[in-house]
Amino acid sequence: MIRYFVLLIPAVISLTLSERAEAFGRKAQKLDFIQAEHTVPKEQIDTLRSDIDWMATLETNQTSSEMLSTLEIPNATPATMSAWLKSRVNFLLSEDFTPKFFGNVTPYLFKKFDYPYLDQMPELELPPGMEGSESPSTPGTNPQKQSDGSDQADEPEKKGVVVMSNMGSGLYLGGKMSKLLLGIKIRGVGKVPVTSPRVGVIQVGEGLFSDKIFGENIPHDSVVRKVFRLTTFFHEARHSDGHGKSLGFLHALCPQGHPLENLNACDRNTNGPYTVGAVVAEHMANNCSGCSEAEREAIRLMGLESRTRIIPNRDGTASGVWDAAPEGQFQPKVRSKQSKNN
Ligand SMILES: [Zn+2]
Repeated sequence: MIRYFVLLIPAVISLTLSERAEAFGRKAQKLDFIQAEHTVPKEQIDTLRSDIDWMATLETNQTSSEMLSTLEIPNATPATMSAWLKSRVNFLLSEDFTPKFFGNVTPYLFKKFDYPYLDQMPELELPPGMEGSESPSTPGTNPQKQSDGSDQADEPEKKGVVVMSNMGSGLYLGGKMSKLLLGIKIRGVGKVPVTSPRVGVIQVGEGLFSDKIFGENIPHDSVVRKVFRLTTFFHEARHSDGHGKSLGFLHALCPQGHPLENLNACDRNTNGPYTVGAVVAEHMANNCSGCSEAEREAIRLMGLESRTRIIPNRDGTASGVWDAAPEGQFQPKVRSKQSKNN
């Protein structure tokens, strides 16, 4: 994700002004706790809504201590898991959103904003030739190189496919690097100041709903696909965490010999996006009352695949827990009749 913004930074210099007028007149769609751009197709909203509803049916018979410590939650009830997502994901962008400086991404030139931990920046591990990709866990697929740095999985052809990306975290880091507070114009919502990675702006990618990952024989409403979409959400939500060196929980380059060698598809920590995806998948496999054994197995494999992305530190020592406390603050505006009248 972060390189997404690195690519955007040259646009800051070249002053792109080609943005056409966006349709701001229409209201955002409500997806449970998320405000989604009106351009997100209705069927995608309906699918995601049914995923969130499905999560509410999970039991809590088997909760691992790793799940609780990784997410830093007291229990794993559906309400707690939903609250965990809620504090990290606020907005959903549609696939067609392309960040354009002085278009849908503009700086607050006259607003003073002091970035905390200015002397501590996360390490950007860039693959040879500045190319690379992130890839969430996807059973039976091999992520391909893609230069926009979003979370991707592959498709049978050569080209990578974007699954989802955390735009807010990338913009926060880009703003911090340029010492400018940035605002993102979200269609149907308006301009939102990116004052923390917790702004929680997530973008849907084609791969989230595509048959290219699972094949046409596995229906969209199958449990396996639901878990894939939900764990992707949890993965992206973790990118809204961290401060200083851990800001955004940036991925590391997978080492030589790894199936994803030289791709930004690994984590040098034991509580980052891939671990979060793994523990949530395993939790869902263990607590899904309506799942068949084959479905549980497929979901567990998803978790296991995600675990292969946890790698040691550069000096060979075992990676550990990163501090997940977020940097800055973001308070979403609550629209209520009362606040409207006051
Ligand atoms: Zn990621």
